[in-house]
Order: sequence, then structure tokens, then C-alpha cells
Amino acid sequence: MNYNIALLKGDGIGPEIVDSAVRVLEAIGKKYGHVFKFTPYLIGGAALDSVGVPLPEETVKGCLASDSVLLGAVGGPKWDTLPGNMRPEKALLGIRSAMELFTNLRPAKLYPALKGDCPLREDIVAGGFDIMIVRELTGGIYFGDRGMREGKYGEEAYDTECYSRFEIERIARVAFDTAMKRDKRVVSIDKANVLDTSRLWRKTVHEIAEEYPKVECTDMLVDNAAMQLVRNPAQFDVIVTTNMFGDILSDEASQITGSIGMLPSASLGTTSRGLYEPIHGSAPDIAGKNIANPIATILSAAMMLRYSFSLAKEADDIVNAVDKVLNDGYRTADIAHGKEALSTVEMTDRIIECL
Ligand code: NAD
Repeated sequence: MNYNIALLKGDGIGPEIVDSAVRVLEAIGKKYGHVFKFTPYLIGGAALDSVGVPLPEETVKGCLASDSVLLGAVGGPKWDTLPGNMRPEKALLGIRSAMELFTNLRPAKLYPALKGDCPLREDIVAGGFDIMIVRELTGGIYFGDRGMREGKYGEEAYDTECYSRFEIERIARVAFDTAMKRDKRVVSIDKANVLDTSRLWRKTVHEIAEEYPKVECTDMLVDNAAMQLVRNPAQFDVIVTTNMFGDILSDEASQITGSIGMLPSASLGTTSRGLYEPIHGSAPDIAGKNIANPIATILSAAMMLRYSFSLAKEADDIVNAVDKVLNDGYRTADIAHGKEALSTVEMTDRIIECL
């Protein structure tokens, strides 16, 4: 099969880690007889420097015409003083909304070989954990009615949380479909003891759950969920939640894996085209030094194979190659703890050797 992939390398370590993922995709393509055609487009600070805007029209068009999009990261101190709508990070919201991506999938997995990096007590994570957070990405309080007004005590500000049944149904289906390919357990997280939006959320999730009799569906209040993630993360398989709760909980979940350079993400919409990116930023402090950990981006490419191209075996091969390299003791500087570390290119070489 032939696939057209738009590459948004971005800033900082973006070009280095995207180049690594491209090499891995080329290797897997060679193994299975797929042809990946890569077309680079400008985004973020690189786009600002080159054409004066963080998200050029050509980039949006190129992404919408592609089969899928792989993004490095954007931003850096050079552009930090620009006004909000000219900041590189603005391009991220722009491309997500242009591609109508309403789902964010964020796995948080503790690799057995990296247990020592986890900030939680050893007995809590003895068996490891592997959580998939399904976050609604285009609704809720971040997109609701907002404003400033004069209130009883003078100046006040308000933001509004609003969810339609339609928005909840479609994200719930993504969560149940995801669970069907995993351990078949969904925990839906809300604040139904206080919020009306949460009560509609809970009711609707359970209606959709009836379409998936093989999946166990339970509810958890968000305050309890924040606690349970550090108390017993292994209890979770798939978590589904709103935009804001997902924003907060997915960062908490990523922190308990202990290694920001390892975690991929996928943003999906109504078509098979998705946007795949590591969860970390552009790491300007280590940019251009060939020491960044490329694994989050390589695993993002694996998610692209799985979710956009339905190439599960090819995706599994990449995940297994990463597992093997880590189990064999190879590390980049961020997870080496002062011991011998591989460069970005050397880590990529090792992973490709294991494919
Ligand atoms: P960051 O994730 O870039 O870096 C935080 C720390 O983690 C740094 O010490 C960095 O060196 C390290 N790190 C991150 N990724 C790594 C990797 N792959 N290998 C090894 N070490 C890694 O977060 P930050 O420093 O807060 O932000 C830097 C810039 O990135 C800012 O301009 C920010 O706005 C931007 N940012 C972009 C995205 C994105 O593009 N999606 C996300 C977050 C931050």
C-alpha cells in the first residue's frame, strides 16, 4: 500500500525526532512492502521565520490532502515574546481544529525496564501499568461561552462548560472501540455529583455502553480519579473524559511514567486521517545536540500505523522493538541517569535493528 504522510517537524528537537520516526517508518515499509511518501510542511517558529505566520495556509492544505500527519513539536524562547495569536503554539490549536480532531488518545505506560523512573513507591507499580486516556478535544469549557462582566463584587470572569449528547456519544464510541482492542474496561470520569454536563455525560456514556456488552463500564468522580491514578494506576485500562478533566489527568498520568520522552499521542477526527505527536515540547535546551529521546515520536508513528492505516502488526513490531531495546539496557540521556547514553541517531539505529 502507498501512504502520503505530511511531516510537521517544527522547532527545537522537532526535526531530529521526526527524522528518527521517518527512518523507522521507512524500515517497516521495506519489511512489509508499504511505500510511505513524506511531504514536509512548515509550522510553528520555523514557519514564522520563513513566511511570517505560525500556520501557513499551504500547511493546512497539505495536511488535509494527506493520509495522516506526523508532528514533532513547536515553540522556543526566540518566539516567546510574540503576541498570543502569533505564537508558534497557536499553530497547534489551528491545525487540530482545521482537521476537526475531536479525540485525543494518550497512552501512559510504565515500561518494566524503566520502573526506576516512576516517582511512585515501588510496591504501587510492581506490576507496571498501561492506561489509555481518551480525551474529548473540541468541546467543553475550553470552547464554551466566556467573557468578562460586572458582577455583585465588581469585575468578574466566566467560562461555560457545555456538552451535547452528540459530542458525548461519539467520544464514548471511540473509548469503547479502543477498549475492545485492549482489556475491555472503560472508566468514565466526570463530576456528576455537581455538574449538569457531567450528569448528561454519565447517562449518555451508559447508553452507548449498552452497544458494547463485552466492555465493563464504570464511573469515577474526577477528584477520586486524580487520587486513584497515584494510589493504584494499574486498575485502569481505558479512561474516557471531558476536555478539561482529560487535560489535567493525562498530564498526571504521563508524570507517573517518569519519562516524558517516551510518550506518544494521537488526535483523531471523523476520517482515518489523524495527527500524531509526542506529548513533550520542543526541548530547546537540548535541540541540535543529537541527544533527544526519539521514542515518543517513533511510538507516535506506530500509533499512526495502528489508528490511521489499520496496520496493527506493523505497529506491534515497532512497539516490540522499542521494548526490546529498553530491555537490552539501551538508554538515551534523559533516562540513563548518568550512565552511558546513546545519541538520538544511535537509539533509532538500535530500534531499526530490532524490527
Ligand atoms: P518540553 O517538553 O519541551 O521540555 C521539558 C523538559 O523535558 C526539558 O528539560 C527537555 O529537555 C526535556 N525533554 C522533552 N522532550 C524530550 C526528549 N524527547 N528527550 C529528552 N528530553 C526531553 O517542555 P518546555 O520546556 O516547557 O517547553 C519548551 C517549548 O516547547 C515551549 O516553547 C513550549 O511552548 C513548547 N511546547 C510545545 C508542545 C508541542 O509542540 N506540542 C508541547 C509542550 C510545550
